[in-house]
Amino acid sequence: MANGCPMMRMKAQTDHPCFGGDHHKAGRLHLPVAPGCNIKCGFCERKFDCANESRPGVTSRVLLPDEALERVRLVRRHMEKQGEARLKVVGIAGPGDPLANEKTFATFQLVKQAFPELMLCLSTNGLLLEERLDEIVDLGVHSLTVTINALTAETGGKVYEWIRLDGRRLSGAEGAAVLLERQLAGVAAAAQAGLMVKINHVYIPGVNDHETLDLAVRVRELGATMMNIIPVIPLGLFKEIEPPSEAVMEMVRNQAELILSQARHCKQCRADAAGVVGRDIDLEALHAQAI
Ligand code: SF4
Ligand code: SF4
Repeated sequence: MANGCPMMRMKAQTDHPCFGGDHHKAGRLHLPVAPGCNIKCGFCERKFDCANESRPGVTSRVLLPDEALERVRLVRRHMEKQGEARLKVVGIAGPGDPLANEKTFATFQLVKQAFPELMLCLSTNGLLLEERLDEIVDLGVHSLTVTINALTAETGGKVYEWIRLDGRRLSGAEGAAVLLERQLAGVAAAAQAGLMVKINHVYIPGVNDHETLDLAVRVRELGATMMNIIPVIPLGLFKEIEPPSEAVMEMVRNQAELILSQARHCKQCRADAAGVVGRDIDLEALHAQAI
């Protein structure tokens, strides 16, 4: 009920820094409890970490659910003491796919019990979204980000190397077709269930850029309320690619904005980001102080 209630949607829109909330006052905390992934995006490299690196899929350390709860306590207390902003949102965004990791659900359960006032947020590639939606709704998750990088199997075959489903590994366009079908069904079902749904889209010039605007139209039809178009980071299969310029990104976002509201502030936060977007808390120092 809570997710479908218009008042709760309003709260999500105003409190969540990434769904139109106040960036300076509302903090977010990503809990890195989900290391495994069930697909392989061509641009994804999660095997190294660097303290200066800020991008999705990167975390200093994977946490267990009780360690994650402890981090929520620490960060919440720290932000209260600092007094500039309050922790509003606890999200799970990796470093793999949250829905492919049971610890995502165990962690949210702990956070929900200890801090029922915090808003829960989840990012996923969408492969398992529809089948895990009831659990997501039962946990009271408010907002969901689904990353969709292709609108056809042909393009998906260039973006995704493989998917793994029910013990089978499907490569290229075959895997992409299954993924796309599940992503779109998941978005529709999640929006129908009352969740705020944002679509992330990694923009890869010459690979999937011709599908970006059609994707915006499609997901709007399915009930998504926001889109976030992210320039590809040249890594993995795409390490030689020239990333899109600021001017190109501005133009694409302006065009997409005519279709679906754009999340232009996104900083591509790490899987263990903490604090206010753009002003992250030094977690190493915070944990060291707490010992
Ligand atoms: Fe990497 Fe995320 Fe793609 Fe999985 S879904 S391969 S973690 S970018
Ligand atoms: Fe918000 Fe983007 Fe950071 Fe997610 S990655 S918390 S959407 S700014």
